[in-house]
Amino acid sequence: MNIIWTRAIVSLALLAALGVAIGAFAGVRVALAFAVLMLVVQAFFVTYHTQRLWRLLDAPVYGEVPSALGIWGEIYYRLHKLAKRWHAQVRQVEQQHARFIQAIQASPNGVAMLDDHDQIEWCNAIAEKHFGLDAKRDLRQHITHLVRQPDFVRYLNAHHYEEMLVMRGMGTNRKYTVSVQVFPYGDNRKLILTQDITELERTDSMRRDFVANVSHELKTPLTVLSGFLETMRELPLDEADRMRYLDMMEQQASRMQNIVRDLLVLANLEGDMRPPGDELLDMRAVIRHLEDDANNLSNGRHRITFHSDDALTIAGAETEVMSALGNLVTNAVRYTPDGGAIDVAWQRVKDRAVFTVRDSGLGIPAEHIPRLTERFYRVDRSRSRDTGGTGLGLAIVKHVLQRHNAELDVKSEVGRGSTFIVQFPASRTAIRKSLAA
Ligand code: ADP
Repeated sequence: MNIIWTRAIVSLALLAALGVAIGAFAGVRVALAFAVLMLVVQAFFVTYHTQRLWRLLDAPVYGEVPSALGIWGEIYYRLHKLAKRWHAQVRQVEQQHARFIQAIQASPNGVAMLDDHDQIEWCNAIAEKHFGLDAKRDLRQHITHLVRQPDFVRYLNAHHYEEMLVMRGMGTNRKYTVSVQVFPYGDNRKLILTQDITELERTDSMRRDFVANVSHELKTPLTVLSGFLETMRELPLDEADRMRYLDMMEQQASRMQNIVRDLLVLANLEGDMRPPGDELLDMRAVIRHLEDDANNLSNGRHRITFHSDDALTIAGAETEVMSALGNLVTNAVRYTPDGGAIDVAWQRVKDRAVFTVRDSGLGIPAEHIPRLTERFYRVDRSRSRDTGGTGLGLAIVKHVLQRHNAELDVKSEVGRGSTFIVQFPASRTAIRKSLAA
């Protein structure tokens, strides 16, 4: 027997005993009147508490337990406990839901949920950006009314979602390329995932261009070489002609060798994630080496001057720095007609080490300057080829300087010459005390 039955029986027994006692002392009528009064009081209490309970269920006030005597107090207390537990559960579910939404919002990919009529139920900020949607405004809108590209409509309606769809010109500025894939779930519902592949596409097309460029660069000397080979095999040549052909073949072979060498240097630079060394370089020796190379290449055809602050040095990788600065110096010689002047300076400007190569050569039209460091980019293709250029020199310079946190600045005037300025940051610049004046 539970507590409610026990209480009811005890109360009834007490009332009955009281009724019997009243009957014995005051007669049956008074006892009956007492019984009726008790019934009225009981009915009043039941009505009063039922109404209170009704109001409480209608507008629950959490944390407040209505006070009442006896069994009603117990009922209120139990209801309150139930409400508290239920409230805590709701709060927990709400928190989980909020965390789930936060996690999807944090995803770098777009997520959109469609109901069984392909209407938008929810989407995160990235999906809004990719599709040009507004999650609140476009709620319950049919997705194909908003994303109208025929490719997308066809893809959504075809129900073959194993492959993803690539969509170009997406977003408000039509600047994104997005991959879209649909995943059906539940009762005909759909989850749409989008991914920004703009950068991926760009690097992919750069890679394709690069392969095409390399093939083209190697194909030309190879074609020339095989032409000479065929001629030598088929024509009876005298010794002088044979030697001439062999010289030209050697030139083409060395051109290919240079391209492959520069490609390997570039590949090594790009693949090397380690920062360049932080040892102080012997810049005096580097500058002397550059001067010798410039004089050998010019062979007296130019006026070449070098001004160098012997105490000035930088921290870095010597072979890389040598190859970058060497490229700038040899370019100056190669792109300056005979009789021109080339001035090279290695000096400290404020707290930075600055390497400047000024030539009085051909100069570079302004529109070409921003593209000079692209691989195989040439302003003057025939001059580059005639002087043994690979079109990779300034790309190597760019990579080496990037690795050394240095900046390249190019100033040029067509017909008057060019100036290439390399500035190493203060953090890499140092003065050798023993050499300082
Ligand atoms: P290349 O092997 O063809 O010289 P680079 O990458 O070193 O390749 O240079 C890219 C292009 O920039 C060159 O083809 C040339 O047209 C131009 N260039 C570089 N340096 C100079 C310079 N000092 N004067 C004029 N043009 C230059």
